[in-house]
Amino acid sequence: MNIPSSETLTPAPRTSDPEQLATEILERLKYRIGKDPKVAKPHDWLTAAILVARDRVTDNWMDSTKRTYAEGRKRVYYLSLEFLIGRLMRDTMTNIGIMDSMRIALASLGVDIDVIAELEPDAALGNGGLGRLAACFMESMATVDVPAYGYGIRYVHGLFRQQMSDGWQVELPENWLAHGNPWEFERRESSYEIGFGGSVDTVDVGDEAIRYVWKPAERVIATAYDTPVAGWRGQRVNTLRLWTAAPIDPILLDAFNAGDHIGALRESNKAESLARVLYPADATPAGQELRLRQEFFFSSASLQDILRRHLQQFPDFTSLPDAVAIQLNDTHPAVAVAELIRLLMDVHGLDIEQAWSIARATFSYTNHTLLPEALESWPVPLFERLLPRHMQIVYAINAMILMEARRQKTHTDQQIRSISLIDEGGERRVRMGNLAFVGSHSINGVSALHTELMKETVFADLHRLYPDRINNKTNGITPRRWLMQCNPGLLSLIREAIGDKFMDDTEALKDLETFATDSSFQEKFAAVKRQNKVRLAKLVRERMGVRIDPSSMFDIQTKRIHEYKRQLLNIIEAISLYDQMRSRPELDWVPRVKVFSGKAAPSYHNAKLIIKLANDVARVINNDPAVRGLLKVVFVPNYNVSLAEVIIPAADLSEQISTAGMEASGTGNMKFGLNGALTIGTLDGANVEMRDHVGADNIMIFGMTAEEVAKVRADTYNPRAIIEGSKELQQALSAIASGVFSPGDTGRFADLVDGLYSHDWFMVAADFDAYAKAQREVDALWTDQPAWYNKTILNTARMGWFSSDRTIRQYAREIWRA
Ligand SMILES: *Cc1c(COP(=O)(O)O)cnc(C)c1O
Repeated sequence: MNIPSSETLTPAPRTSDPEQLATEILERLKYRIGKDPKVAKPHDWLTAAILVARDRVTDNWMDSTKRTYAEGRKRVYYLSLEFLIGRLMRDTMTNIGIMDSMRIALASLGVDIDVIAELEPDAALGNGGLGRLAACFMESMATVDVPAYGYGIRYVHGLFRQQMSDGWQVELPENWLAHGNPWEFERRESSYEIGFGGSVDTVDVGDEAIRYVWKPAERVIATAYDTPVAGWRGQRVNTLRLWTAAPIDPILLDAFNAGDHIGALRESNKAESLARVLYPADATPAGQELRLRQEFFFSSASLQDILRRHLQQFPDFTSLPDAVAIQLNDTHPAVAVAELIRLLMDVHGLDIEQAWSIARATFSYTNHTLLPEALESWPVPLFERLLPRHMQIVYAINAMILMEARRQKTHTDQQIRSISLIDEGGERRVRMGNLAFVGSHSINGVSALHTELMKETVFADLHRLYPDRINNKTNGITPRRWLMQCNPGLLSLIREAIGDKFMDDTEALKDLETFATDSSFQEKFAAVKRQNKVRLAKLVRERMGVRIDPSSMFDIQTKRIHEYKRQLLNIIEAISLYDQMRSRPELDWVPRVKVFSGKAAPSYHNAKLIIKLANDVARVINNDPAVRGLLKVVFVPNYNVSLAEVIIPAADLSEQISTAGMEASGTGNMKFGLNGALTIGTLDGANVEMRDHVGADNIMIFGMTAEEVAKVRADTYNPRAIIEGSKELQQALSAIASGVFSPGDTGRFADLVDGLYSHDWFMVAADFDAYAKAQREVDALWTDQPAWYNKTILNTARMGWFSSDRTIRQYAREIWRA
């Protein structure tokens, strides 16, 4: 047969001049969407434009895959239950360099690219920082030329949409796939069976060896959907592969024919529930069976896919650790450790020692939290019922680990118990953090402080047993989305000042330092900030009907609502400021707008109460003529990536005020700093390293250190005494408790206020005075605008190190060896 080579079939590279693009858009519109331009709706234009961009990305995607093979490159697999992607159109078009031509092409067809860009739904397949990190990493891995696949779940419903009803959070289902998803390719051929439950048989295979055969009671099919992820300049395109679940028998015909129409769909509903919704809790484990099913489902599908791909290129699995690195994003995919061993032993015939050593050389694990209550564990009976073979493997690994620990004779019985994969205190549970730790050759924290605390707290005993495994990889953010796209005004200004080098090497932003004291540059920097504030003010007016003045200081705290992040501290300080402005109107107060945005986990009572308090305080303050022009408070609903892209560039002041020792890293802090906000924050997470980079004079640090928090907690912390000793704090709390913000309902915020008096676990009272003092210093600085802009310009100039390109290079060099 005479098959033409793929070379002769490959068309000449497409130009990206606007005329060519316009022609292609019309083609897609007609032949792929079936619409005439005369009747096409904005959504149709969006889909057509994305399809054109996707085709161009696809060319580079195939080249990247070929190059990976040809160069024998190691592949990195990033397993994450969350990818908080946001929109992809601007990102992709910018990265492959067709954004300007696309704008012209669409304009020539009478379509405004900014209008259709707003129609693209956010892919919100994540809760907060952890999921956004995974998304930034995908873009950076492509940018720094690491051959990588992201693996996750294609949730039909991403993170809920947040609406306000009388100031309370209401959760509505999110429906990002309603208009289809033009970015993805369905891969029917990449399908795998995933089992649950059932029993384990043993088969004698001679030589006194036995083989285990898991006979699952239930099976579902995992099918892949691929989204290409283009790096900056488009040279490498990697794959985000998300799994969807389908039943083996879509309909039970016997049941259907017997008239049981609902029962006939039982299997189908059960399978599809696996990929239906993202669990909406941030930093607390969901604990339900469906969650464990989701974790195993995507881990197993991903590993089967990885092993299949490996065998296409290599004769066996001894080479797996050289060809493959698998990163576990938190413990959510930790069951993959047991699943890889099962596949290698039961399906591919390796013995347990071989399988175990291959697994450990292949896996690495990123820890994201120290909160003991946030560490995942599963009741042994549930784990055993759902994954009987994996339970055996966990016991087998545990026996090996505990033997090793005993042999070293350095651990007490108590320490041995803390190393065990099984928590024996009370209800027996499988500890996923310990499983991930022992199954990995590298365990990393996400900031320098967090990594040190990991060694001292959660993993102290495992760290003593394996002292060379824990390492730090401080998080980063992609400067493409979080500077170049979200802040076009600042982008132009920087290019004008220092050229384009920083676009390929973010640390070259340092060249801006010399402009920090240049008054004409300061004015231009301030003008860009003002434009961004006008843009946010417009959004706030349109969405909420509240007017905010762009000449006020925009003081912003946006992130998940959580007690440890201490939005409550910020709200109480706002109340106190309000009180002082009213009682001393003769003083020259700095006009402020306090902006909040963020979602609370639907079952998190206190977090939802904090949202209600912010809204109630906002209503009172915003309607009080005594502080008109001086103070406004707004809570912008439905925080997500696209909203963050509007809010962050408009910030003058960035609130990063978590209880020290509790925020593993934070990445919101980095986004604000990069976009020229001054940070007010505690010495927590990556704030510590931000201070080191931008300089202690250019960041407003206050409050207790992690060490002090631990010490005060261990001693007898008496929040009541502190509150009673702080006039401002006491007045603010009495105002809340007496119903100033909840007329006729004085008990509304009792859970919050009483909590502060009785235990104040998050040290709001202990840090209040220091925080209020730091805020007044911020005010003083604001009144000296040249000094203010000097500092904020230095923030932008010195935040380049926090690019996720740097983070990924460190992972690649030190963990993946890719
Ligand atoms: C960056 C980001 C986060 C993380 O913010 P932190 O302040 O680090 O908690 C959460 N949600 C969205 C939408 C983000 O873009």
